Formats: sequence, structure tokens, C-alpha cells
Amino acid sequence: MADDPGCLFCRIAAGEIASRQVHADDTVVAFHDIAPRAPTHILIIPRVHIRSAAELTDDDAPIVGHLFAVAAVLARTQGIADAGYRVVTNVGRGGGQTVDHLHLHLMGGRPMTWPPG
Ligand code: 5GP
Ligand code: ZN
Repeated sequence: MADDPGCLFCRIAAGEIASRQVHADDTVVAFHDIAPRAPTHILIIPRVHIRSAAELTDDDAPIVGHLFAVAAVLARTQGIADAGYRVVTNVGRGGGQTVDHLHLHLMGGRPMTWPPG
């Protein structure tokens, strides 16, 4: 069951909305972004509903660590690790966040510019 039934990413994590999943375990799910901004663009999310990185506390350290560990594994298995890639999380509307469920964007397969804009 979705942690928050009104949340798109909770519903994707629960399998209630289809996605092109590339990883799933007890606490984390990863799937291809529906509107990729890079040749490889994967979203990595906790199953638990956390609105954004702005809500995180020290109690969330294990889940945040696991999100990044999954990102590292996926970067290798998706073949973008050697060239380099980007892991980002947007916070709030001004930060570019459109879905209010914490997610890492794993992006690669092309050179990344800095700053992201
Ligand atoms: P944000 O803008 O919040 O940082 O990132 C949200 C991301 O979710 C966007 O890159 C957007 O393309 C993606 N997205 C929005 N709706 C869906 C959906 O229904 N399925 C998938 N796979 N990605 C989605
Ligand atoms: Zn959610």
C-alpha cells in the first residue's frame, strides 16, 4: 500500500502506477524518469513519504545513505559511472522540485554543465 495515497511517487513505489523500474528493495525504489533530461535519467526514492531533503533529520541517515549507495550501484550497472554523472535533489518550487516526495536524480550519458541553472 502507498505510504501516502495522494502522492504520485508513493503510488509508483507501491506499484499502483506503472514505471520502468530498475531497482527495488525494502526501503528504496528506482525507475526511469518519464521525461528524461539526459540519455540516462533515473529517479531514486525512499518508499517512505518524505517531502524533500528539507525535511531530513539525523534519524534519516540510514535511508539517505542507502539512496546514495543505490545511485552508485545503478551508475555502474547503467554504464555511466566511468564517464562521470550527476546526482541531484531539487528542494521546493524555486529549487525546481515538482513532485513533493524526496528523490535523487541520477543523470548521465552526456557531459553535464555547471551550474545547472
Ligand atoms: P523534480 O522536478 O521534483 O525534481 O523531479 C520530478 C521528476 O519526476 C521530473 O523529472 C519528472 O519528469 C518526473 N516525473 C513526473 N511524473 C512522473 C511519472 O508519472 N513517472 C515517472 N517515471 N516520472 C515522473
Ligand atoms: Zn510520497
